[in-house]
Amino acid sequence: MPKEIADVVVVGAGNAAFCAALAAQEQGATVVMCEAAPEEESGGNSRFTAGSIRVVYNGIDDIKTLVPDLTPAEIETTDFGTYTADQFFDDMARVTQHRADPDLVELLITKSFDSLNWMRNKGVRFIPIYGRQAFKIDGRFKFWGGLTVEAVGGGPGLINMLTAAANKRAIDIRYATRGLDLLFDGNRVEGLRVREHGEVREYRAKSVVLACGGFEANPEWRTRYLGPGWDLAKVRGTRYNTGDGIRMALAVGASPCGNWSGCHAVQWEMNAPEFGDLAVGDQFQKHSYPFSILINATGKRFVDEGADFRNYTYAKYGRVVLQQPGQFAWQIFDQKVKHLQRDEYRIRQITKVTANTIEEFAQKLDGVNAAEFLKTIREFNAAVKTDVPFNPNIKDGRGTSGLAVDKSNWANTIDAPPFEGYAVTCGVTFTFGGLRINTEGEVLNTDYQPIRGLYAAGELVGGLFYFNYPGGTGLMSGTVFGRIAGTAAGRADKN
Ligand SMILES: Cc1cc2nc3c(=O)[nH]c(=O)nc-3n(C[C@H](O)[C@H](O)[C@H](O)COP(=O)(O)OP(=O)(O)OC[C@H]3O[C@@H](n4cnc5c(N)ncnc54)[C@H](O)[C@@H]3O)c2cc1C
Repeated sequence: MPKEIADVVVVGAGNAAFCAALAAQEQGATVVMCEAAPEEESGGNSRFTAGSIRVVYNGIDDIKTLVPDLTPAEIETTDFGTYTADQFFDDMARVTQHRADPDLVELLITKSFDSLNWMRNKGVRFIPIYGRQAFKIDGRFKFWGGLTVEAVGGGPGLINMLTAAANKRAIDIRYATRGLDLLFDGNRVEGLRVREHGEVREYRAKSVVLACGGFEANPEWRTRYLGPGWDLAKVRGTRYNTGDGIRMALAVGASPCGNWSGCHAVQWEMNAPEFGDLAVGDQFQKHSYPFSILINATGKRFVDEGADFRNYTYAKYGRVVLQQPGQFAWQIFDQKVKHLQRDEYRIRQITKVTANTIEEFAQKLDGVNAAEFLKTIREFNAAVKTDVPFNPNIKDGRGTSGLAVDKSNWANTIDAPPFEGYAVTCGVTFTFGGLRINTEGEVLNTDYQPIRGLYAAGELVGGLFYFNYPGGTGLMSGTVFGRIAGTAAGRADKN
């Protein structure tokens, strides 16, 4: 038998992979990580994130545990509220229309706080997301939407801190090394065939943890599984997540699971490149749309921009934009709500028009029926319930009434120039369909039995997300299930 390269081989070097590697190492296993990307492009989608992580917390004391360097002034001026396990369960059930696997959801939620704390003990630092998840009212910040902490330095910071933690523990990270196939003797997985810096070789190991993402960067698979038109979506993150882990596992008999025709997709700068750009990160997204109205090429609104807090609608509205003629929309703001725009509205790489009169503005909205647009604005302004107070921190019920598509919250008349328009298309984040795992992170075969020696975590796990997704759950899923899979893989090596 050729010599093993390590006890555990982890495929990928994003958040789920690092958590798996650190957990396996904690069990005394030797670990090699193989990452398809060269070092400068490594870190997967995790590196493109803002690093925001959805975690259960029962008040300020839990936040202080996660963020020990919170200052007295921050504590004094902030209402962190709570995000209880019950709230997280409700959110997962509601947004996935009760389809999410109850066993996986239970683990995700009940292990979230403990797992984040575990990460902190490995050297990852967190801070409150003041910039994006709290509005200041009467001198006090109030957090909304269940998303309260982020990694210091966002996604790049998260990957740097995880890489440092892995290096400190002698975990061997092989960049420019793509996993090709699993070594499988019919009974158990015995390693991985890789292409390392252009050369094909075998990595023998006692266990393999697949943590190499979904198939969002593969236009052929997107069209095949998500449907026609999805080849036209922009990819928000890494170009390396082409479904390899899923393909390798299916080839040795793994059971497919979850919402294979579903994905996370957002409104994204219309002229963004085909794949994500690490220099821009997540800033091509345009997430202040609950305070705007969305207009398509026909000059009409087509979706309830204020149906819920941004965290609970943004992941499904990319699909809605993809379905519009020409696959684009314009987000329309006036000066009354401009101060509510997130930082991503102030980048250079943006398709933006402004005008001082609504008539001139209508002419500037490229590709839009100007006459219909002006009619839409008139009808919208007349339908706003101006007697209800506007409040961005709560679902304020200040909607419209009587329109073909009403806006449920945060409606304001559009009449304070200069008017601003931002062009968006669909940006796909990650795919929901993947592999079936059990609560130990083992990959199951089509008889629902564990494939010995094979584990999975992160985006390529199916069964958690259907139709939609609560913001910040992707990283938490990678952390919880990466830790579970790595722990089991590390322990299995001792048997
Ligand atoms: C722009 C953007 C912003 C986001 N913001 C947030 C956020 O703020 N909070 C949040 O929770 N989620 C966010 N997400 C979603 C989040 O990125 C993912 O849910 C999460 O990072 C997935 O982690 P992962 O480890 O499974 O995958 P990834 O981080 O994508 O890691 C997969 C790794 O596998 C590697 N790989 C692929 N194929 C192979 C192969 N054959 N062999 C070896 N390596 C391979 C890739 O190079 C990559 O490094 C965002 C995503 C994007 C794109």
